[in-house]
Amino acid sequence: MTIAIHDSHSRWRTFLEDAKEDEITSILARQLTNPVMEISFHELESFDPDFAESIIEHPETILKSGSHVLREICQERGESIFVDIRLIELPRDRRVALRDVGRDQIGMLCSTEAVITKISEIKPRIHLAKFKCESCDFIQEIEQNNERELKIPVVCPQATGGCGSSTKSEGVRFELQMDQSRLVNNQWMEIQELPEQVPSGAQPGRGLLLIEGDQVNKHLPGERVTANVIPTVRSEVKKGKKTPLFDIIYQLVSSEQESTPFNEISIDEEDIEIILSISKREDLLTLMRDSIAPGIFSVGQIPLVKRSLALQLFGGVARINPDRTRLRGDIHILIMGDPGVAKSQLLQYMSKISPRGKLASGGGVSGAGLTAAAVKDAFSDGRFALEAGILPLSDRGLAAVDEFDKISTDDRKTMHPAMEQQQIYVAKGGITATLPARCSVLAAANPKKGRFSTQSNRTRSIMKHYKETDLPDALASRFDIIWMLQDEARVEDDERIAKHILSTRAKAVSEALIEEGQELSPSLEQEEMVIARGVDNKEYLTIPFLRKYIAYAKRNIHPNLDDQASTKIWEYYRDARLSSATDDRNMMNRDDNINDEKVISVTARALESLIRLTEAHSRMHLRQTATTEDADMAIAIYKHWRNEANILDEAEMHSNVSTRNRRDRGAVRGIIRNLCSESPNGITPLVDIYNDAAKMNITEEFVNDVLEKMTISGELFCPGLDKYSFVR
Ligand code: ADP
Ligand code: MG
Repeated sequence: MTIAIHDSHSRWRTFLEDAKEDEITSILARQLTNPVMEISFHELESFDPDFAESIIEHPETILKSGSHVLREICQERGESIFVDIRLIELPRDRRVALRDVGRDQIGMLCSTEAVITKISEIKPRIHLAKFKCESCDFIQEIEQNNERELKIPVVCPQATGGCGSSTKSEGVRFELQMDQSRLVNNQWMEIQELPEQVPSGAQPGRGLLLIEGDQVNKHLPGERVTANVIPTVRSEVKKGKKTPLFDIIYQLVSSEQESTPFNEISIDEEDIEIILSISKREDLLTLMRDSIAPGIFSVGQIPLVKRSLALQLFGGVARINPDRTRLRGDIHILIMGDPGVAKSQLLQYMSKISPRGKLASGGGVSGAGLTAAAVKDAFSDGRFALEAGILPLSDRGLAAVDEFDKISTDDRKTMHPAMEQQQIYVAKGGITATLPARCSVLAAANPKKGRFSTQSNRTRSIMKHYKETDLPDALASRFDIIWMLQDEARVEDDERIAKHILSTRAKAVSEALIEEGQELSPSLEQEEMVIARGVDNKEYLTIPFLRKYIAYAKRNIHPNLDDQASTKIWEYYRDARLSSATDDRNMMNRDDNINDEKVISVTARALESLIRLTEAHSRMHLRQTATTEDADMAIAIYKHWRNEANILDEAEMHSNVSTRNRRDRGAVRGIIRNLCSESPNGITPLVDIYNDAAKMNITEEFVNDVLEKMTISGELFCPGLDKYSFVR
């Protein structure tokens, strides 16, 4: 194998002249300043398998000799240019995780999938230095391979035409000819293992990359790449002395950007079949809703919140206008609420379900924060570096930001464009860059004073509550939906939550037993499952399946609204505008200026939110065209969070409800009415409802659903455990 190194020169020549003739001609013709020749590993392998194999083992020497040969060939044809060779598309068996790189990989070619976290400024460095001999004016070239030390000649070479004097005996000096030397730019980059490839509980592996030549400034922090690298070692220097320990520095050979969204989630034929069949279920939205944090009991507003979160996972369609402006498709949601209403739990779950989901706390984010930061000396060489924050790192995914009210002042300023244009513009310390941040934001906020005020909360607009958090007014309009979860401390709810929490705990498996290997982790058990059942026997989709479903929908479904759907949304918008105009004659409710007395006025942003929600609902059902069905649901959700009066009955908006479904709903209602009126105290036990329903072939699950909706809408209440009564 090593033979290939020695004759790599002639092997390169054969390969380049036989297989790359056309490219050489075109490179020479184009007269680019920094020409590059890309060579696919597979091409080289099919031409000369042994040689390709030896490149894997000795990439540094062989690639360098390739560039030499190419330079020679160009010179023979009358052009004195440097052409870089870039080897791409390494075989899959060269894939290695950063955490596993060690002795065995040093000096070899390998490739690794990673996300870029930090990038430094660029600096030029001498690549090929020319020195002039003081005594005879002869000029010699010295290649500079170490960027930390300039290699200076010791002797003027006689063999190539110099005078032979040396620094030692004759004391001759050599002068660096800057104008004739070849400079290349270099840049440091930090990469990190992809979060989804990190075993749970472990820290992601990191790597320090050195990038040179035309590869600099090709990447931005936050990007995901497959980096083809050569790990090299360098002794650690402590207080100016070399130590026997080594640092690994990766030399970047080439990099490839992913082309399919969420390529980390693989979906096979069988998965697609299941996805398609699930998508046809009539109760799809309910199933999706119940799949969001099944451990959190759905009381009060929570079912509505969960439903909107289900839509957020799918999102609308991002669009580019002819003038190159971009309309975001991602749906941003804010959950305000008293402490202890399960906000953090919801966020944690959402960050797990969403492909590329990330969880961060507004208060505790260190370093780059939510957006980005320019850090001095991040690579200990005095240069500025740009570090990606949570939003760019969640590009194409979801950023769940807890304690959103505690975000730093810097982040506050950059959050507006970050959420609307989904880009983060940084201009600091010699670095200017625009980082993409195409993610949906799910934020949770606590009240400034520990608890939201409760008085007359039915009539209070959500904006009044918003003011009780410490967030800037204008930021509110960046959210498509804002929820308010209050700890209403209703006795019967408390009992139901408590029961739910107790049974959830009873069903969960002891962590210690899992670690000892005595019990199977429930998440492992669900790996192959599609539908699981929660403690209340409700069906939900398992996380692995839900992630596949979402990735499939986002990859393949890009719905457009049909005319009727657009009309529906337009009509709602027009009516809402009209009523807010009559409500509020001075019309101060322009865009960012929030009037806290009234319902928030409907602005053009609302139109966009409605379109996004409509598209998301359609995408969830895997429909390429969004219809009135989708628009109706979007409008219903929109009215819900805005606390608007005369919200359609849930059964009516549930456009998927078949006639049988609707009839059964009526029947259950009738059963409850009869039972309550027959009972002396107007209270009926749940079992009696179940029994009467069973006689009409109506399942308990369906009854539960009707009961839940009637309770949420305030028609029914629970005077005791598993007892129902009408609200009078
Ligand atoms: P927050 O972030 O809103 O302050 P947390 O998410 O930390 O609240 O929740 C506090 C605790 O209360 C969690 O253990 C959570 O599981 C529990 N909890 C609160 N509401 C519910 C609910 N509806 N169902 C199940 N558990 C709940
Ligand atoms: Mg919390």
